[in-house]
Amino acid sequence: MKIALDIGHVANSGSVGIGGMKEHAAAKTIVELLAPMLRHGGHEVDVYDFPTMGNDAELRAVADVINAPAGDPTVPDYELAISVHFDAADSPTPHGAHVCYTSTKGQRCARCVARYLAELLPGRADTVQYRPKLYILKHTIPVAILCECGFGTNPQDARIIREEPERIAKAICEGVMLWEPIWDEIRAAEEEAARRREELNKEK
Ligand SMILES: [Zn+2]
Repeated sequence: MKIALDIGHVANSGSVGIGGMKEHAAAKTIVELLAPMLRHGGHEVDVYDFPTMGNDAELRAVADVINAPAGDPTVPDYELAISVHFDAADSPTPHGAHVCYTSTKGQRCARCVARYLAELLPGRADTVQYRPKLYILKHTIPVAILCECGFGTNPQDARIIREEPERIAKAICEGVMLWEPIWDEIRAAEEEAARRREELNKEK
């Protein structure tokens, strides 16, 4: 499967966690651990990061390259896009990971990833959340999810983000592996439906 990984935000932006931990830097560490894990699982992986752009320009640039890595939006390429982030709150109490989606297909994938990610970083009542307004989910063509890998402002979560980012990467990777056969079935069913439609149209 071809997978695009997005390091959330640009350098020195996004949320700030305990000890001044920056969201972009933490996401970069997780993504750089996740990419080789997914490649090891047989996937083709590209990492996208435009750290020096403005926030809005970065979102557009990431969506554009995910939709048309070869420069042609009619050529389907990536089957999955994963954006990596961490949450922040005014109080140290909120904790736990959740995975955001907009499409039904994204929801399936989000559930698979949340199963592992929220086991490592528990605390959210809704570990999978429908977020139709998140730019990177709203403006991308492939199945897309956005992982909020716990709260940088919570001591337990921040410790895992800072000291054990490989466990976060592994949880996301395991979720993708759980989702992969489900995705294969969805694609096979869609192809079968398209074939049937064609056959029925010919009979008319
Ligand atoms: Zn973020």
